[in-house]
Amino acid sequence: MSWLTNVRNALSYVIPKKESPDNLWHKCKGCGQMVFAKELADNLYVCPNCAFHERIGPDVRFAQIFDPGSFTTLTPPKVQDDPLKFRDQKKYTDRIKAARAATGESDALINATGTIEGRKAVVGVQDFAFMGGSMGLAVGEAFVRGVEAAISEGAPYIIFTAAGGARMQEGILSLMQMPRATVAIQMLHDVGLPYIVVLTDPTTGGVTASYAMLGDVQISEPGALIGFAGQRVIEQTIREKLPEGFQRAEYLLAHGMLDMVTPRAELRPTLARLIDYVGGQRKAA
Ligand SMILES: [Zn+2]
Repeated sequence: MSWLTNVRNALSYVIPKKESPDNLWHKCKGCGQMVFAKELADNLYVCPNCAFHERIGPDVRFAQIFDPGSFTTLTPPKVQDDPLKFRDQKKYTDRIKAARAATGESDALINATGTIEGRKAVVGVQDFAFMGGSMGLAVGEAFVRGVEAAISEGAPYIIFTAAGGARMQEGILSLMQMPRATVAIQMLHDVGLPYIVVLTDPTTGGVTASYAMLGDVQISEPGALIGFAGQRVIEQTIREKLPEGFQRAEYLLAHGMLDMVTPRAELRPTLARLIDYVGGQRKAA
């Protein structure tokens, strides 16, 4: 270690970290401009310069979608951690522990119940920050619980997807959540309640191959990456260059895979209108 490195490391003790401009300014991933963090938050985490939609977690999403003060978070289900005793470079249990500490959540899908412009709804939000939003036992179970809550309240189930796919550390058990979620959606339909999907950046893999594409209405945020396999994998397989904007929300809308691409600021009124259209209010079961 050089003398200079020693001095630099010592400096971080002298100057507290939170004083650094990192927390005040945010570099936009869309246009690269520095945006004042508070301005970004006030603008629903959408860049005021280029309208790039930053990824947001459950807490922020619930606050944006539900009427102020109207929502309650549902207790996340308890499932067995690490059923296969999986380990790669790190133990899976250690990865879960780290993700829980970093996000404050128990797993990658959180549900809440509340009102959207006065209409009852149960909303599930997948958190990409929690192990890439990956779908394992906990996500599958939370999805089913979200549907059950919607049925007991006589309200629609609205899911905000964000996932890299199935959680490989849970092997076949994670893949089994695909048919499980599909059956849950059928339960919702059996009692005449709608299931609405809002795809957010990124939604890929096994999540796209199951509940993310089964909505009665398919909405996406602008610019979201939505696909099954990655672009590079497809290009290597078919040995062809893929078109510009392939697997982005706007391209999928133009090719009939989505019903609408809705900017974040318009999501709450759009969802309220849709609940009216598709009849998502029933007497509680
Ligand atoms: Zn920007």
